[in-house]
Amino acid sequence: MPLLVMKFGGTSVADLSRIKNAAEKVKREVARGYDVIVIVSAMSGKTNELVGWVEQTSPLYDAREYDAVVASGENVTAGLMALTLQEMDVPARSWQGWQVPINTTSQHAAARFMSIPRDNIDAKFAEGFKVAVVAGFQGLSHEGRVTTLGRGGSDTTAVAFAAAFAAERCDIYTDVDGIYTTDPRISPKARKLDKIAFEEMLELASLGAKVLQTRSVELAMRYKVRLRVLSSFEDTDDNSGTLVCDEDEIMESKVVSGVAYSRDEAKLTLVTVEDRPGVASAIFGPLSEAGVNVDMIVQNISEKDYDEAHPGAVTDMTFSCPVNQVARAKKAMEDARSAGKINYEDLVVDTDVAKISVVGIGMRSHAGVAARMFEALAAENINIKVISTSEIKISVLIDRKYMELAVQALHDAFELEKVA
Ligand code: ADP
Ligand code: ASP
Ligand code: MG
Repeated sequence: MPLLVMKFGGTSVADLSRIKNAAEKVKREVARGYDVIVIVSAMSGKTNELVGWVEQTSPLYDAREYDAVVASGENVTAGLMALTLQEMDVPARSWQGWQVPINTTSQHAAARFMSIPRDNIDAKFAEGFKVAVVAGFQGLSHEGRVTTLGRGGSDTTAVAFAAAFAAERCDIYTDVDGIYTTDPRISPKARKLDKIAFEEMLELASLGAKVLQTRSVELAMRYKVRLRVLSSFEDTDDNSGTLVCDEDEIMESKVVSGVAYSRDEAKLTLVTVEDRPGVASAIFGPLSEAGVNVDMIVQNISEKDYDEAHPGAVTDMTFSCPVNQVARAKKAMEDARSAGKINYEDLVVDTDVAKISVVGIGMRSHAGVAARMFEALAAENINIKVISTSEIKISVLIDRKYMELAVQALHDAFELEKVA
């Protein structure tokens, strides 16, 4: 039997009538002759509520218990989806991660797939079941504990199942009708793309475009999964939505193809750390051990280097991380200072920043993108706090209050509303 993976995100299963709407899409594919693996997210808002409860109970929580709590949202929708399909005379069975079992690493809240044995689900298909409804976002560690894959992780569950079961395609049903040049909720001029290259989507996702979890794009690229994003609210067919595919399948040739933003960033500066070998490792080692995901890093010679009061060579070290990891980062730095591993005068935290990025594989062979980007931001009087670049992207940190304005200004500056 040909097999499809269909994933429904939070807004697509937000209540019973939406679950029914999603189930109808599944039933249609079954009627066309497919076996279907359905991956479901928790109802929209549920995971945030569960995370909130964990944080209120224990600010520096034990990640094993965080996972025990937040994985539960998907269990509810998996069962409800199976029941809804049964009511429509579609033979369906639900699966929690441990029942498959979806084997993952034991990095709680950020686990990675190890293996997805097919036997149990294949046996159910052989019994005549047409649909396996799998709870997204969760897995099982080799210690036998429930794990989760990081926010947005159901996308990755979907791609991993598509790879494991050699699915014809992995369809990600969501609340927009495809992948756009930027978030259509931020820029009314955003344009839907028919196709986007894996590399570009990977970059956009890792820079904040939450339409797909980064890891899902990585897996799709590695295992050559045909990955498509489309609307769960509209009528769709085999040509709907946006296909994520290899670069050489794409006709459009823009230097910049998308703008991404990440709202929840924080900038931290360690003022006057010693400028000597080993300092960076003494700072970023403890941060990594504390589970802080450091993103941008800037080291700049402090003005105080030239003070009489500070004769030794000193530097300021600035880094960014997700805003909800600031408490962990501060504690890691304070502990490292108390233990005599680092020394600094002050730790300045700015929690009101956002990261804006432009992405495009065309940047590999075109100069001048940075200049055009900085010019567009300057024209709006937006100050840049930190800059970082790689082969196919440029990112800046700015005041969060200018985030939307910056996205729109960059979308205009690179004429993304026009087809190349
Ligand atoms: P789901 O709950 O279905 O997983 P998400 O909220 O995780 O949905 O992802 C879909 C959202 O991603 C859209 O509602 C949109 O606001 C946002 N988004 C960000 N960047 C883009 C983009 N470039 N194209 C489409 N959607 C985007
Ligand atoms: N429910 C999880 C989240 O909100 C996983 C997902 O929806 O992909 O992050
Ligand atoms: Mg999502």
